[in-house]
Amino acid sequence: MSKVSCEIIRDMLPLYYDSVCSDESKRMVEEHLAKCNNCKMELEKIQDEIHIPEKNIIENKKSSNAIKNISISWNRLRLKSLIKGGIISALLITSIILGYVGLFKWEMNSVATDVAEISEISEMEDGKIVYYLEINDGYRLDRIKTHVDNEGNLYITPLRPIIKKEAQPPYAFEKGYDFIDIKELELISGKKIKTVYFGTKKDKILIWEYGMELPKASEEVEKYLEFRGL
Ligand SMILES: [Zn+2]
Repeated sequence: MSKVSCEIIRDMLPLYYDSVCSDESKRMVEEHLAKCNNCKMELEKIQDEIHIPEKNIIENKKSSNAIKNISISWNRLRLKSLIKGGIISALLITSIILGYVGLFKWEMNSVATDVAEISEISEMEDGKIVYYLEINDGYRLDRIKTHVDNEGNLYITPLRPIIKKEAQPPYAFEKGYDFIDIKELELISGKKIKTVYFGTKKDKILIWEYGMELPKASEEVEKYLEFRGL
C-alpha cells in the first residue's frame, strides 16, 4: 500500500465517518481500512474525538446545574460569601470534570483474561489469523490495543475505563470475530512477530506462535468477515 493512498484515505475519513461520501469512495475507504491498521486507528481516533466532546458537553451541563442548585441552597442558608462560593464552585467544577474524564473516559484498565474466551482460532485464505472473542462478564469492551514488544511478542490488549458500562447489542468488541494481520503488523512495527497473545505481559492467553499450524477458516467466517469489510 503506497503512502499516497494512506494520505488520500485520511483526508476522506472525516467524510466517511459522517457518511457524506459517495458509495464508491466509501468502498475505497473500506477496502483500504481492511488492509491498513494505521488508517483504521486513525478512524478510531476520529470516532473518539467526535464522541467524547458530545458526552462531555452533556455531562458538563449536568455539573453546572448541580452547582447552581448548591448555590441556591447556600443563599437560603445565608452563606453569601461570594468569594468563598466562587472558589468552592471552581474547585467543584474542576474535580467533577477531572473525575468524570478519569473514571469514564481513560481506557486504562486492561480486562482480566479470565472473563475472556477465545475460540475458533483459524487462518483465512489471505493468511490473516481470525478468532472469536467473547468477554463474558457482561460489560462493554471499549477498545482493543495492539502492541509488539522488542522480543516480537504481539499483545492484543482489551481495554475499558474504570467505570464499566454494560454490554448491549449491537456488541462492539466484546462479542465477535476479530483478525490479526501478522504481515501488516510486522511491516508497521519493523519486528518479526513470534507469538500472539491476548491480554498483557502478566495475564495472557496464547493465540498463535511461529510455526503453529492453524485450521483453515470456515467458509462462513470468510464470508462474514468479507461482508463486514474486514
Ligand atoms: Zn492506510
